[in-house]
Amino acid sequence: MPKHHPDQNDLYAWDKDLVWHAFTQMAEYDPLLIERGDGVYLFDTEGNRYIDGSASMWCNVHGHRHPRLDAAITNQLAKVAHTTNLGLSNPTTVRLAQRLADFTPIGLEKVFFSSDGSSATEAALKIAFQYWHQSGIEGEALSHRSRQHRTKFVSLGEAYHGDTLGAIGVGGVDRFTSIFSPLTFEAIRVPGPGMTDSLSSTGDGGPRIDPSSRHTTAEATLSELENLFKNKGSEIAALIMEPLVQAAGGILVHPPGFLRAVRELTERFQILLILDEIAVGFGRTGTMFACEQEDVSPDILCLGKGLTAGYLPMAATITTAQIWEQFLGSHQDGRAFYHGHTFGGNPLAAAVALESLAIFEEEGVLEQLPERIQQLQDHVARISQLPHVGDTRQCGLVAGIDLIADKNSRRSYPWESKMGATVCLAARQHGALLRQLGDTVVIMPPLSIRSSELTDLLHAAESAIRETTESTVSLSNGSLLS
Ligand SMILES: *Cc1c(COP(=O)(O)O)cnc(C)c1O
Repeated sequence: MPKHHPDQNDLYAWDKDLVWHAFTQMAEYDPLLIERGDGVYLFDTEGNRYIDGSASMWCNVHGHRHPRLDAAITNQLAKVAHTTNLGLSNPTTVRLAQRLADFTPIGLEKVFFSSDGSSATEAALKIAFQYWHQSGIEGEALSHRSRQHRTKFVSLGEAYHGDTLGAIGVGGVDRFTSIFSPLTFEAIRVPGPGMTDSLSSTGDGGPRIDPSSRHTTAEATLSELENLFKNKGSEIAALIMEPLVQAAGGILVHPPGFLRAVRELTERFQILLILDEIAVGFGRTGTMFACEQEDVSPDILCLGKGLTAGYLPMAATITTAQIWEQFLGSHQDGRAFYHGHTFGGNPLAAAVALESLAIFEEEGVLEQLPERIQQLQDHVARISQLPHVGDTRQCGLVAGIDLIADKNSRRSYPWESKMGATVCLAARQHGALLRQLGDTVVIMPPLSIRSSELTDLLHAAESAIRETTESTVSLSNGSLLS
């Protein structure tokens, strides 16, 4: 028994002192300890209740403490918690692979498991690279000029594919990653089809987004991709993108048809398409997978976050048989994928992921979404009328709300004012946990949120935005006075 029973104050102090939080300036960190959850609600150690407005960082799907998900884990726990998938397997993991092959778009059937989204994209990049390296060495030759020279990757504008070195190499949220550029391989970055063009006239995107990229239209992106593929296609292994919505880039919603057009280009030039559905997969955009909306099936699909309904860390990289076959041979050929993670395919995570898929099927999760999506759309339209709200974007059950210093000149808040973070902190007072991306407030609740709960969440966001932005006088020189 420990001699000393920690009280609340100890926990706060230790949290501030010992726990290095992700994406957090620890000198300014103010602890909030979440002790338990129930449905869409989270409760802190003092008993305060909050709506989980960011789905615990975009991964919770069916709510917290869902009885079926909890039971799936305890049932698996009664068998075994973990065994390795290096050269062996487990029935639960095998069943999950089979279900994923079923659920994902046609052609995707070979499932490589890892433990988090960044690992899923790293695996996808390495698989694509090794695929071309081995292609045509034996058997069916894919034009010899492709061999070994396909070492480059293409990514779009404000892409985010994770925080490991390979993933930041293809990422575009420079504010976080530019200091590491000497350590990463350089992807060819093509500006994404920005946003609605409402911000493009003044290019005042603020520090979070390269203003030049906001000007780009889908047509411009597509023609740049086409030129690139024409001139350098034989050097390009794959294009990686988040379909429909670039999430961490600021909830940037692509225009309809864009994904389909990218798919056609990659097919025409024989470039692999890697779709990162780590944020948008599992119902977020209204369909099970975002790419279904444009009838696109990639060569490689990355899943994470919602895969286990947000319960346990697990990710998957799913490929076509065509890719897998390039890795087959005898041991001495050295064609195997020599890559893996200790907890890849973990049976507890697989058990909860399987149960989550069963809930999708049996509880009509997707069927209930349109009503909720409409509600989000209507309320966000109202929020967009607030004097300090600029552009708003939505796709399915995710929305981004841009805070703006001056609506007429479309001037952003100065970066130092941390307006997005301040609004999200204020939302706690109204019973909602929200998370910002720069000055974009993100609304991304669990899919299971009920109508009245979504109303409460949006009211909390609206009140926090009003209070914070309307109590702040913004001076013309850009400094702030509260
Ligand atoms: C979160 C995210 C990742 C990284 O996943 P982690 O589990 O945080 O490593 C990759 N891609 C997208 C689109 C994401 O949203």
